[in-house]
Amino acid sequence: MKLEEVRAAEARLLLSTYDRSPIFFTGGEGVHLIDERGERYLDLLSGIGVNALGYGHPAIVETIARQSRALIHISNLYYHQGQAELAVRLTERTGLERVFFCNSGTEAWEGALKLARAYAGLRRSEGAKLGTKFLALEQSFHGRTFGSVSTTYKEKYREPFAPVVPGVDFVRFNDVADLRAKFSSEVCAILVEAIQGEGGVRPLTQEFFTEARQLADSTGALLIADEIQAGMGRTGKWCAYQHYGVQPDVTTLAKPLAGGIPLGAVLCSEEVARVMHAGMHGTTFGGGPLACAVAVAVIDAMEKEGLLAHATQVGDYFQQRLRQLAARHEAVIDVRGKGLMVAAELDSADLAKAMVGEMMKRNILINCTSDTVLRFLPPYILEREHVDTAIAALDEIFTEHAASAAARSQGGHTHG
Ligand SMILES: *Cc1c(COP(=O)(O)O)cnc(C)c1O
Repeated sequence: MKLEEVRAAEARLLLSTYDRSPIFFTGGEGVHLIDERGERYLDLLSGIGVNALGYGHPAIVETIARQSRALIHISNLYYHQGQAELAVRLTERTGLERVFFCNSGTEAWEGALKLARAYAGLRRSEGAKLGTKFLALEQSFHGRTFGSVSTTYKEKYREPFAPVVPGVDFVRFNDVADLRAKFSSEVCAILVEAIQGEGGVRPLTQEFFTEARQLADSTGALLIADEIQAGMGRTGKWCAYQHYGVQPDVTTLAKPLAGGIPLGAVLCSEEVARVMHAGMHGTTFGGGPLACAVAVAVIDAMEKEGLLAHATQVGDYFQQRLRQLAARHEAVIDVRGKGLMVAAELDSADLAKAMVGEMMKRNILINCTSDTVLRFLPPYILEREHVDTAIAALDEIFTEHAASAAARSQGGHTHG
């Protein structure tokens, strides 16, 4: 099938949940995607932060081949070696002690919310004064299933499906006074992303994160950090909260966890884990032999190739180059991020949207989030030369945009 045939068939057959770009990919290699005409695209989005090792990495390809011959799925009724092997690696790297495996980000987040409600119930039965309320943050994004969407800030994601799960209050982002005002013993958990992803690559302040930890400790409520986008090495540390020295009670991982194979994980402390017993929560597919084996291979490859340090270095270089652009082009009003989670905020939503299309014409894939924010979530194997390619293209587009804006305002003067 060709692009036009696929487009027509999808328009007729699929629920219209996506507004896809008209490119039809058939392959990938390293940091590049390849379309049906053989055109190569520099991928600075990596399947929304998923393809940490890029495309066709031998560790992933070989593990899938080997593990698919051995065993793909058995359910959670029996043992296989993958969950324990992966759990050892994840607990060592997150500072948490127990793991539940699932299939996606939103499913991991649901697990975290259920854990918080159940744990608060256990603590109440032991005499503690703890309610059932969640405090989430404005601009948060935690996924699309009912619990996750209920704790996601944007009204447009929740409103068509009302009523959503009750008991969620939103705190103004990085507003310590608002957090204090909304916190009480009614709260069972404070929900944060150390660096908000969909919300526009916005880091928590140290003050806010520390205060959230202290408030939670004051009542026994949980601090839950969603690391689905920022976690697993993207920011140069295994978890973004490690940049702050704040340890959450629960965290969630997914996007890059198994390098492109669907896998999610909820991690928690031993103390929180004591609420779970057999039959209380579960999944058919979660933590299957294939996904776990690939995740183990991804972690081992990241370490062997020194990709956390690499993400820090190339990410710093990326931000430095973006700052040079910001100095040259008024349209760029902020540059921020950590490691290879990078953003450039523009002064106009129309321009940000147009940039994505213009970059695509130059065979570079980027994304726009939160209306005005150009977001870069490249594979961790990105090199400086790829950054230079992207910066040169951005520079050219900003220059053209400024020239045409100047011509328009000139025209405006001439014709009154
Ligand atoms: C993508 C994302 C999710 C949802 O993950 P899915 O796999 O799409 O369900 C949740 N939280 C954060 C921070 C995310 O970036």
